[in-house]
Amino acid sequence: MTAPLRHDPDCIFCKIIGGQIPSRKVFENEEVFAFHDIHPAAPVHFMVVPKAHIPSLAQATPEDAGLLGRIMLLAPKLALEQGCKPYPDGGFRVVVNTGAEGGQEVHHLHVHVMGGPRPWARG
Ligand code: AMP
Ligand code: ZN
Repeated sequence: MTAPLRHDPDCIFCKIIGGQIPSRKVFENEEVFAFHDIHPAAPVHFMVVPKAHIPSLAQATPEDAGLLGRIMLLAPKLALEQGCKPYPDGGFRVVVNTGAEGGQEVHHLHVHVMGGPRPWARG
């Protein structure tokens, strides 16, 4: 069986991770990259993506459980660093659009983190 593709040369987020497309970086370590959304829907809006090219949450496997958990734990830390007020008065929203009917446009798994004073542009 062929190993799943961990990098897709045609993927826009793989190109951002690789530095071929510029982005406003929020955070990076060996397994994840976080950057501001180019069309923010909220005063704070960034995405956390695995460096491995996982097309969507629907393709995540049990081997990805640790990675997904670490992304979830990173979200509140980065949200505070990016200016979201603390829970419970502040907080943030985490969204993972998955598939066409889930509203996914970029097919590289990404976790949206949105926050800041309301009203927001969308939602
Ligand atoms: P989704 O609909 O969940 O697939 O979201 C894809 C997100 O990627 C959208 O919110 C876009 O604004 C964002 N996006 C697309 N291209 C770029 C880019 N070059 N830099 C930063 N964000 C981007
Ligand atoms: Zn990719």
